Amino acid sequence: MTLLEGRDLAAGIRAEAAELAAGGPPPVLAAVVATDDPATAWYLGSIAKAAASVGIAFREERLPDGDNDAVLARLDALSRDPAVDAIICMTPLPAGLSLAEAGEHIAPEKDVDGASPTSLGRLAAGRPAFAPATAQAVVELLHHSGTALSGARAVIVGRSTVVGKPLAMLLLRDDATVTVCHSRTRDLAGETSRADILVAAAGSAHLIGSGHVKPGAVVIDVGTNETASGEMVGDVDTAAVEAVASAVTPVPGGVGPVTTAVLLRNVVTAAASTP
Ligand code: NAP
Repeated sequence: MTLLEGRDLAAGIRAEAAELAAGGPPPVLAAVVATDDPATAWYLGSIAKAAASVGIAFREERLPDGDNDAVLARLDALSRDPAVDAIICMTPLPAGLSLAEAGEHIAPEKDVDGASPTSLGRLAAGRPAFAPATAQAVVELLHHSGTALSGARAVIVGRSTVVGKPLAMLLLRDDATVTVCHSRTRDLAGETSRADILVAAAGSAHLIGSGHVKPGAVVIDVGTNETASGEMVGDVDTAAVEAVASAVTPVPGGVGPVTTAVLLRNVVTAAASTP
């Protein structure tokens, strides 16, 4: 069984982004933040640190929690601001504001984390668009591991607009046969145990055990769940699945670092395509 670590791949993607960024003025990434959630603060800190290492200028745009109109107005203003190349909108958002609604206020050419419904639609239509960084990171990990996608049976657990749905589009683009499962799926283990490639993105600690995995399958664990003791665990019970799968990503250290690196590469790409 291979442990598909993401750190080396992430370092390679960051190096690629840094090389591209070195050719011009520092690309500017703005993050709209309307939450005091500690997990969001941790993620912001890691983006800021990684952005600095790549040569990206990072701007945190903090807004009071609960003011939905202020979030939308700031996204509109940043979309119009020629000094800003890229925009991300951090979650959780204030109650009553969905990421898809907020994403409608991000200009598609600056939408480096694929939050805009326009980006998702373009992805579905096979047009150029930024995919959500996490969905793209899963595909990068699969490519990096040499996993054949064409004709493979891929099963995704989770249908969110930030992971499951865009990932289905990306895997279809690579000619996989894709099934998307969710909380109403009748026989989850029946679906997942037919997968050559299984992606768990449900947000449910250790949902996937050995009985969910086909022998020899490649398993990608997107889930990040905090246990009562404060430990971060994935959606996959890695210890149980190790005996069955051919490869599994660890949590932490798998999809997470690649996601941040892909996001930064998208920022540099957005800046490079600004006229
Ligand atoms: P989400 O919006 O809550 O969506 C979860 C999806 O999983 C939903 O489609 C839900 O079904 C499905 N689901 C939940 N429990 C299930 C179960 N028991 N059986 C089958 N399907 C189930 O979550 P998300 O934003 O996509 O995130 C998913 C996970 O990935 C979370 O742990 C999140 O923290 C993590 N994440 C990690 C990264 C990273 O970079 N590593 C980035 C983003 C997200 P319904 O649609 O029917 O409700």
